[in-house]
Amino acid sequence: MARLSVSRRGTQKELTIMSILYVALVLLSALVATTWSAAFDMNEVHNLDQLIGRSSVAKARDTNLIDPNALGKNKYTPPEEKAAQFWYDLANEEIAKRLALPQIDKRKAKNLIMFLGDGMSLTTVAAARILKGQLKGNTGEEDALSFEKFPYTGLSRTYCSNAQVPDSACTATAYLCGVKTNIVALGVTANVNFNNCSGSEDPANHVSSIAAWAQAAGKASGIVTTTTLTHASPSGAYAHSTNRFFESDTDIVTYGEGQNGPCTDIATQLITQEPGKNFDVMLGGGMGKFLPQSITDKFGNKGERSDGVNLLSKWQSLHPEGALAYNRNQLLSVDAKRIPRLIGLFNSGVMDFHKLADPAQKPTLEEMTKKAIEVVSQNDEGYFLFIEGGLVDYGNHFNLPQMGLDEVHELSKAVETALGMTNPEETLIVVTSDHAHPLSISGYPGRGTNILGLNQHDTDINGVKYATLNYAVGPNPYLDENGKRESLEDKIDNPSFVFPSYITGKIGVHSGDDVGIFATGPQSHLFTGVMQQSTIPHLMAYAGCIGDGPKLCDN
Ligand SMILES: [Zn+2]
Repeated sequence: MARLSVSRRGTQKELTIMSILYVALVLLSALVATTWSAAFDMNEVHNLDQLIGRSSVAKARDTNLIDPNALGKNKYTPPEEKAAQFWYDLANEEIAKRLALPQIDKRKAKNLIMFLGDGMSLTTVAAARILKGQLKGNTGEEDALSFEKFPYTGLSRTYCSNAQVPDSACTATAYLCGVKTNIVALGVTANVNFNNCSGSEDPANHVSSIAAWAQAAGKASGIVTTTTLTHASPSGAYAHSTNRFFESDTDIVTYGEGQNGPCTDIATQLITQEPGKNFDVMLGGGMGKFLPQSITDKFGNKGERSDGVNLLSKWQSLHPEGALAYNRNQLLSVDAKRIPRLIGLFNSGVMDFHKLADPAQKPTLEEMTKKAIEVVSQNDEGYFLFIEGGLVDYGNHFNLPQMGLDEVHELSKAVETALGMTNPEETLIVVTSDHAHPLSISGYPGRGTNILGLNQHDTDINGVKYATLNYAVGPNPYLDENGKRESLEDKIDNPSFVFPSYITGKIGVHSGDDVGIFATGPQSHLFTGVMQQSTIPHLMAYAGCIGDGPKLCDN
């Protein structure tokens, strides 16, 4: 499938759009003395109404939301950015700039692995590194995550066509398809207006992903995530949708406003359309998106689909040689030499935080990564894999760094495992993030201060110690009725402690910082400097000699 260049369309009413998220942090009460494993509802943390600024519906759903419409005003898409070619040209410039330097590496990347820490800001990386060392009994600051030891690093600019602060859909379109688009859109250009189905169904507005480029070159491909297979990040590898929330046909009714004819839901696209239907491996959560409401899934929940279609049966009939796995043992027992195709679904919705998951039933990201590499390694032409630690973002949204940082550790372990299983001479591994979160490490805490504790070396203006980690926006600023900061001495060590925030919102939000790019393997020296997020897949395609853009093999 070629990367399509797109002609500009006549002006349609621009839906102004705001950034960022919000929604229900549902702390299910019951904190038992020794366990709190059921404490968090892992339902979708990204609220459509807030993302697009649909205040009336938002109020109907949740009277406590601030007015997102006010946030959404005066946002627009620069007209020139509606054409995919704008971003291809920019990527070509950024690649040419790097190729103008002395080239120290002639190696071609047979295998391409992209790891994504969703919402993994650079501060989140630093805090996770410190916590990693502290869990070993050390001061912590001196430690490093696996991917921090990679030889080359760069910075990724994360804004989207109409958003200063992006969501995970427009960013997935950037780092997987190489084109920036409008917030909440997937695999379509910014020419498509929000919820406009005729626009998103029109192939002229589609952009193809690096997974499709890899398939066209005869490589294996796959996606791994701790969220749902139909969540914004992995969907960037295969879907074309005006709205990331269209994960099932029922979701389209809920979120779609019935505009301009039918849209194809993301789960259906994954199972029945190119390039999703060709994936050799798909591991993650979200079983409900694939099953009709008449069927109870493996986790005791009813399917979500209204169209009566069982997409997993459909997948099995399309791929009789393929295997399905629903728990850790089934996954681990897959013999990749005999099973050429694998789909694993380990929750009805997104997976559980690693710290709260049942280790007997739920595979870790590291285990999913290992199995995915085993499966795609059977292809002699090499492979492209997208592997996401998606719950870093959830931890940060909930202002629960004790969860988010643990998810970073799980990502770090998965990267380490991938390094150990692959030949560094022919495998390019890129670790990055889609967007940041406004987490700060503040004050002047001394070396070795508990990163999840109070800053022991500074106080606020009233002499009250404060948490070293804090967020710009979140559910609890911990102020008394006079606006004075409460002491957190007897709260902060609670494992479910919600870290403090400056601005009170239902839940934490994304932020507009650049995020890190960490690269190792063939052509990894190109992943340096500051670059548009949309350049990342073009650089990987250059290294792997796939796609329609510039290629190492052209030289
Ligand atoms: Zn998020």
